[in-house]
Order: sequence, then structure tokens, then C-alpha cells
Amino acid sequence: MPLDASARHRLTHLTPHTRRHAEQLLWETNAPMSISSGRRTPARNRAVGGSPTSFHLRGRAVDFVADRDTLVRAAGLAWALRVGRGCTGPEEVILEDLGKPNQHLHVAW
Ligand SMILES: [Zn+2]
Repeated sequence: MPLDASARHRLTHLTPHTRRHAEQLLWETNAPMSISSGRRTPARNRAVGGSPTSFHLRGRAVDFVADRDTLVRAAGLAWALRVGRGCTGPEEVILEDLGKPNQHLHVAW
């Protein structure tokens, strides 16, 4: 799926490794899925109730939004996919609030 402008913008402030993973996951999922959160400032992280040690603060976490089935499938792909030699995969893969209006897939690399 081609990335829309806001998804591309949210990818730009990630670490290069996390960005590669996020782009790969969007590509492999191959269904409508967008990014609701990438790197957060400390103020933004507090405002959304993020953990003070959140990977979002270091540009290493991405929240993806899509329909439920797509998010569940993407979670499986996130666990499995690697980028390059020595890549050990994600630190966190969390399906948050599935079935609720703010459902999303949080992945930290
Ligand atoms: Zn998150």
C-alpha cells in the first residue's frame, strides 16, 4: 500500500532501524493501515497517558491503526519480520484496546 503523507511524516522522526521495520510492516501487511503515533515529545507522551519510559520517547515505537483483523495479522507479522543480519525483531508487540474505538497495534523495535 502506498504511504499517505501523514504516515510518511510520522515515520521521519523514528530511529532508522525502527523506520525500516515500520515501513516493512506496512508493506507486508498490504491492507489499509496507518500510523497514529510515532516519536513523542515528553509533553505529548504525558498528554496521552504514555509510560514515562515509553519507547515512543526514543523514536522506537509506532502505533498502527486499521481494522481488527488487519491489526491481528500485522501483530503476527511484526513478531516474525527481521530487517537485515543481526536483527532480533521487536521489543514489544501489543494489541491495545481491541474492539474499542481507539484500538491499535503498538510495536517497539
Ligand atoms: Zn504505542
